[in-house]
Amino acid sequence: MRRRVSIFGATGSVGANTVSLLLEQGGADTYDVVALTGAGNVALLAEQARALEARTAVTADPARLDELEAALLGSGIAAAAGPEALVAAAAEPVDWAMSAIVGAAGLAPGLRLAEQGIVLALANKESLVCAGDLLRRTCATHGTRLIPVDSEHSAIFQALQGERTAEVDRIILTASGGPFRDWTREAMREVTPAQARAHPNWDMGERISIDSAAMFNKALEVIEAQALFDVNPERIEVLVHPQSIVHSMVGFRDGSILAQLGPSDMRVAIGYALNWPDRRDLPVERLDFARLARLDFGPADPERFPALRLARRVIEMGGLAGAVFNAAKETALDAFLAGRIGFLDMAELVEHVLEDLGPDAAAIGPGYDLEAVLTRDAAARRAGETWVEELIGK
Ligand code: NDP
Repeated sequence: MRRRVSIFGATGSVGANTVSLLLEQGGADTYDVVALTGAGNVALLAEQARALEARTAVTADPARLDELEAALLGSGIAAAAGPEALVAAAAEPVDWAMSAIVGAAGLAPGLRLAEQGIVLALANKESLVCAGDLLRRTCATHGTRLIPVDSEHSAIFQALQGERTAEVDRIILTASGGPFRDWTREAMREVTPAQARAHPNWDMGERISIDSAAMFNKALEVIEAQALFDVNPERIEVLVHPQSIVHSMVGFRDGSILAQLGPSDMRVAIGYALNWPDRRDLPVERLDFARLARLDFGPADPERFPALRLARRVIEMGGLAGAVFNAAKETALDAFLAGRIGFLDMAELVEHVLEDLGPDAAAIGPGYDLEAVLTRDAAARRAGETWVEELIGK
């Protein structure tokens, strides 16, 4: 059966890997590609749309519409631009979609996709962190099946196949520890964006790479795991595993532990989500255990990486505290990338905004809508910006 597919965030690291797997699996001969989206990288978007014979290409940036139209000239592929066009593209009927926009910008299109009653491959963890209840509710109402794409959550999802959540004793989220795994806080103080971007194992987008270095990515993943698998947060453990071969584990009440292992290559998790419930040949390295020889594990340190502690605080608060946390984190990351604040300031900013706005956001009951999420998101960004200005002004 030919499947209709769309990729949101096609020009990013996850998106481009998804495009390459679609091409690997027959491209336009196998799939009807409905929409591909990007933001700044219009040339790549047009190239991908031509390669997959997509129906529509959408850039999030309205100022780039002319450029996109020019790049698509003569192809018969429609061009569109702007956040509304992204949501409109998410309403175009498909059977499968990849949600791989980075940040809270992925929330509105992701929710619209979830209303289609489809298989939704979810890389955009921020939408679960900001609005886990809303996304899950939308999926349940419309019969959408969420397949996690984060390698850790894909591992847990795979380990849970045929198992009952009630029999889960604990979830062990592995973490590479990033480039500063063994650094003291003093040494981390002077870290530059270029150093933070250089992840030891994974080739990812800039933002998630820096999030990983500060363990904010792992913090998002703890919240994501709680939202996806509905386990008691006390049963979610973070374990440092520098080689990134064991992607995560699930422990059961009888003491058994199931783990999923594989190369540090996102095409494994993306391919699993693309072909689910089947498995197909993927062009990835096969693990050679004799050559690997050893796998190391160690405890995570919330003292050196306060993001881990803040994740627990967000879960404890509940409600829309996750939307505040994520928006503060995105604001902190922008300020760090712009050289306005230091590496360690990011966690301080987030903690300040979370403690300031979190309790009020946490008080919102279930049944909230997208507007409520966006209101908290905007307030947290403003508060984060004020914190940065005050710090610079000191
Ligand atoms: P990238 O930064 O590489 O790509 C992000 C994508 O989103 C690009 O297509 C980009 O367009 C687009 N984009 C950026 N800003 C906006 C916006 N305001 N509105 C709409 N689209 C926008 O990110 P990654 O691929 O690394 O990550 C994507 C998501 O997947 C994130 O949520 C991340 O946490 C998650 N993830 C990523 C992993 C990885 O290996 N990279 C692993 C696990 C999860 P353009 O490039 O054209 O500007």
